[in-house]
Amino acid sequence: MEMLLSCTCSRPQLSEWLNQIALSHHVSTPVKTGEKSFRFQPVTESALFHFEEYVPTVMPPVRTLFPMDADVFSYKKTTSRYSHFENIDESPQIIFGVRPCDLRAIHITDKVLLHGAQDPGYSAKRNATVIVAYRCSKPCSPLCFCGFTGAINETRGADVLLTPDGDTIHIEVYTPAGKELYEVSDFSKNEHDKKKSLKPAKNIPDTFGRTPAMSLHKTVVAVNSKKNSRLLTVAAERCVSCGICNYVCPTCTCFCLHDSPESSETAGSRTRSLAACMTERFGTTPGEAPERKTAAERTIFRYTQKWSFQTDNPDVLRCTGCGRCVQQCPAGIDIYSAVTRAGENI
Ligand code: SF4
Ligand code: SF4
Repeated sequence: MEMLLSCTCSRPQLSEWLNQIALSHHVSTPVKTGEKSFRFQPVTESALFHFEEYVPTVMPPVRTLFPMDADVFSYKKTTSRYSHFENIDESPQIIFGVRPCDLRAIHITDKVLLHGAQDPGYSAKRNATVIVAYRCSKPCSPLCFCGFTGAINETRGADVLLTPDGDTIHIEVYTPAGKELYEVSDFSKNEHDKKKSLKPAKNIPDTFGRTPAMSLHKTVVAVNSKKNSRLLTVAAERCVSCGICNYVCPTCTCFCLHDSPESSETAGSRTRSLAACMTERFGTTPGEAPERKTAAERTIFRYTQKWSFQTDNPDVLRCTGCGRCVQQCPAGIDIYSAVTRAGENI
């Protein structure tokens, strides 16, 4: 990514800039919605934003691009023909305060939905979206392991990159869309030579979040080795097959389609819903048995899917290490413990 310009600002100036942008744009940012829960929600009122303080949002920001449920198209019979109307949402939006792990997840989703057979709904929304990313200077939760997966250093996909450095925020602008946002601010007096900009990860310690002694590549081999199945599934005895780990995962993209014809059968709609491979019903067709009968089989499937590198993106692991599935699992099942247990057995 070639940087267009860079500058610095103070934390209050950053909040002021965000509030200024929100006056004329649709902006989502992490908002505290419970004692320990945050969600990406529209900025509705002036506030000071403390991006370091938010624990991973229950739903990742990629769900503003690829929601849990979305209308794909509707159809209607007019005279003797059926016409269909695609539901394409091109309304502009800004996602402000995206962490590197979630930037990585958007990068992974782009690879799935924009390459090969392109998803027109995702493509339209993605093109209408500007991302302002915020680098982490400390682990956001005791459960995250983005240092191990490498997602902590992700910068691809950011239109603007913010790096905290004490009370100062370094701002790097990478795209024309990011530059338009920058021009809403009065930061130009703080602008500096782009060669002096922070190099990625300058402020990030070598060991970040949960990090085992073993290498990532060896762990991936261990997770995908049949001899480690028992080590991976020891906790699956507690799994209640609720699918929450799929719904909160920022890199899950499997979906199913539902058709809803009106009673007249001359009109109807098609909806896309996120599918969860950890539930018993995943992959079943009417009258047939589930694709994977036991929680252990489903766990092996999920772990080996997440702990492999993305096709055409060979250094990008499908698990970002955000820790959401660990945080939200009602049975306390921890993917990091399972894969590192397997990794120790290589
Ligand atoms: S969230 Fe936990 S209990 Fe629910 S399906 Fe996933 S691993 Fe099983
Ligand atoms: S598998 Fe868990 S830790 Fe990995 S990206 Fe998905 S939710 Fe995050």
